[in-house]
Amino acid sequence: YRSFGIDRTNSMGINLANDDQLRTLADQINAAARSQWRATPLVPGANVTGPLIAVTNPADRRQTVGQWQAADSATVEKALQNAVAAHDAWNKTPAASRAAILEHAADLLEQRMPQYIALCTREAGKSIPDGVAEVREAVDFLRYYAAQARKQFAVEPLPGPTGEANTLQLSGRGVFVCISPWNFPLAIFAGQIAAALAAGNSVIAKPAEQTNLIGYYAVKLLHEAGVPEAVLQFLPGDGATVGAALTKDPRIAGVAFTGSTDTARAINRALAARDAAIGVLIAETGGQNALIADSSSLPEQVVKDAIASAFTSAGQRCSAARVLFVQDDIADKVTTMLAGAMAELKVGDPGLLSTDVGPVIDEDALKMLRDHAERMDREATKIAEVALDAEAANGSFFAPRAYTLKSLDQLHREIFGPVLHVIRWKADQLDAVIDQINATGYGLTLGIHSRIDETIEKIASRIKVGNCYVNRNQIGAVVGVQPFGGQNLSGTGPKAGGPHYLPRFATEKTITVNT
Ligand code: GLU
Repeated sequence: YRSFGIDRTNSMGINLANDDQLRTLADQINAAARSQWRATPLVPGANVTGPLIAVTNPADRRQTVGQWQAADSATVEKALQNAVAAHDAWNKTPAASRAAILEHAADLLEQRMPQYIALCTREAGKSIPDGVAEVREAVDFLRYYAAQARKQFAVEPLPGPTGEANTLQLSGRGVFVCISPWNFPLAIFAGQIAAALAAGNSVIAKPAEQTNLIGYYAVKLLHEAGVPEAVLQFLPGDGATVGAALTKDPRIAGVAFTGSTDTARAINRALAARDAAIGVLIAETGGQNALIADSSSLPEQVVKDAIASAFTSAGQRCSAARVLFVQDDIADKVTTMLAGAMAELKVGDPGLLSTDVGPVIDEDALKMLRDHAERMDREATKIAEVALDAEAANGSFFAPRAYTLKSLDQLHREIFGPVLHVIRWKADQLDAVIDQINATGYGLTLGIHSRIDETIEKIASRIKVGNCYVNRNQIGAVVGVQPFGGQNLSGTGPKAGGPHYLPRFATEKTITVNT
């Protein structure tokens, strides 16, 4: 499956460095942002009843963005029946035809970028640059898995010494459940679905409860592009009702999940407990990501990349840097520059182009971050805290901040938000730093800043992570060229946007004919 040479290109999105393009986009986004959106389960033949639940804007809780309706248990059951019935015909549809539908969806999404960015801004609090990146990544996933399906699902003759005709054929596993996170409500949502569909599975998509509207409009677009309605169904609801009912059902073949490590474990247990074929779990989970800077690195660059890695998307990325390990020779300089650079960050309305950091997703996230900050205020030394304006009180805003810690043990778990922790190390402690990072058990991203080749090689070879970035920031993996995903507590693999992802959604059949 080492098919790196497939024919595809990444979406160009729009050029944010061009003021005219940016202003036109901002106008279109603002126009779209005045809409009210509505999401309901998309399950053919289901009679969904139940209340509509209001969605509010994370940047201003007084504003309603739309409404959604949760699936009840009868709708879950109907979705499962539909998905089982629809699988065979979709699986028999040639991979090239499935791919063409996904490519059509990618084209539609690119054409309608402003609406989807507006939705990401209004429902998920994404900044405009984040919104552009989000749509672009979704487009990339659709095209990448389409291209992979064309290549990997072709019947492969396997010449050999047996004197027989041997072929290998990949095929969809059955019904796949895709459970996606709110922090990439379009890109990861569409990516999981695209892979499962490209491989010939029927799909039940369960978005994060915070971002049902985005999920709904993504599924509508895939239907419009030609995915049959029973092949891709949309099932919003709470994890306990919808997620748990789906993952314990013997009719499902597998689950693609992105979210917390604890939930991944619960899904794994549910799959294993079924009296059914052994289910597949593809999980992308959390991280405790570090950035190691040695004394040969450039403090300006360390600070720039630490800020991008820790505070972009309000730190709500699995890939985000949580801990900056800085060698003591340059530590004073780095922390002083860090405080200065943080003072320039503008926190506020994500719909404004001047905003660097938008809100966090909801009041639960805000409370978790406030609790953490309270503990840090007692147990660590504050380097900086960004000022919030009066408007921030109307939304779920958390001021980015940085602390100096004595040791990594002071962090008990992943802090999913705009908080950077700094730890100093001495020249003879590099091995200990690497050991500590590996000992967290997580293994998602690592940043290295150094101008010494042996140091870079040593860290990169010893560290147990999925994505290692040298002398740059550690977020924003690009589909097809920086396959993304971690090890150990950070996920099962295979990597999203990489050549090994699609086969995990498939069964393999070898046919041997004695000629
Ligand atoms: N792929 C994203 C990145 O490289 C992170 C995905 C996530 O947060 O789950 O920044």
